[in-house]
Amino acid sequence: MIIDGKQIAKQLRISIADQVAMLDRKPGLAVILVGDDPASAVYVRNKDNACKEVGFYSEKINKPEDITQAELLAEIERLNKDDKIDGILVQLPLPSHIDANQVVETINPNKDVDGFHSENIGKLMQNKPYLRPCTPKGVMTMLATTGVDLVGKNCVVVGASNIVGRPMAMELLNARATVTICNSKTTDLSAKIRQADVLVVAVGIPKLIQGDWIKAGAIIIDVGINRLDDGSLVGDVDFALAKDKAAWITPVPGGVGPMTIATLLENTLTAYNTIEEK
Ligand code: NAD
Repeated sequence: MIIDGKQIAKQLRISIADQVAMLDRKPGLAVILVGDDPASAVYVRNKDNACKEVGFYSEKINKPEDITQAELLAEIERLNKDDKIDGILVQLPLPSHIDANQVVETINPNKDVDGFHSENIGKLMQNKPYLRPCTPKGVMTMLATTGVDLVGKNCVVVGASNIVGRPMAMELLNARATVTICNSKTTDLSAKIRQADVLVVAVGIPKLIQGDWIKAGAIIIDVGINRLDDGSLVGDVDFALAKDKAAWITPVPGGVGPMTIATLLENTLTAYNTIEEK
């Protein structure tokens, strides 16, 4: 069966919009875009539109490519103190003269709706999660819709980046699964995949995962987004073959992608509720 990320994300947005409709002050999200990378601009526009759709207050802040580190940090400090703003997101990647790590660490951890601040990553590691990275958290929401109990399952995560693979592995460990993390140096990847009751792939290589590697009845989550020469979008898994062996599988597009933005809204509402409770 297909795990329909578009539909699950829509339900999540409806639920968020219902909650926002009852609030006096609206949750506020600020998204900072540095430079004019077209792909980043599209992501930022989509996030801004999603905010408007659920009734959030949103600020889209465009900064020039040549902004200095100090100017960018000052902008974040301003937003840290702004009572209208509950969530701050700096669109990555940043230009090479900017220290992205220092930028993320300057965001107030209570407004860190991307969940990348070391304090929030540390909480996830300690199984005391607060604001959790959006893509892996969105995957957990998708997995929950299958009704499959993750406890004791063999989960394989392919890809070990800070934004997807590593926090994904922690999410699954926190759900009491047995987790294997693979990276570009992993030997005999196919043998690991064949053991996977749950497979999450976040690499960025089309058809890296071949259909005949999939364990019968597995759940397959394909986070990869790759644009082919003909303009079409595909994931990292050979979907046509894998879908016949898997019990559940996400499509690309229409799988994990829509969940990432819906989860960003969910995180912003969480940050808002924490601020309001204080
Ligand atoms: P990244 O380049 O930061 O990390 C890729 C990881 O894959 C690394 O850990 C690397 O060691 C590993 N890897 C590379 N080749 C491998 C191989 N042959 N076998 C096993 N592992 C290998 O990428 P990222 O930022 O984590 O993104 C991964 C993919 O997910 C990309 O296609 C990206 O576009 C997509 N993505 C999608 C969403 C979404 O919302 N759907 C969000 C983030 C990223």
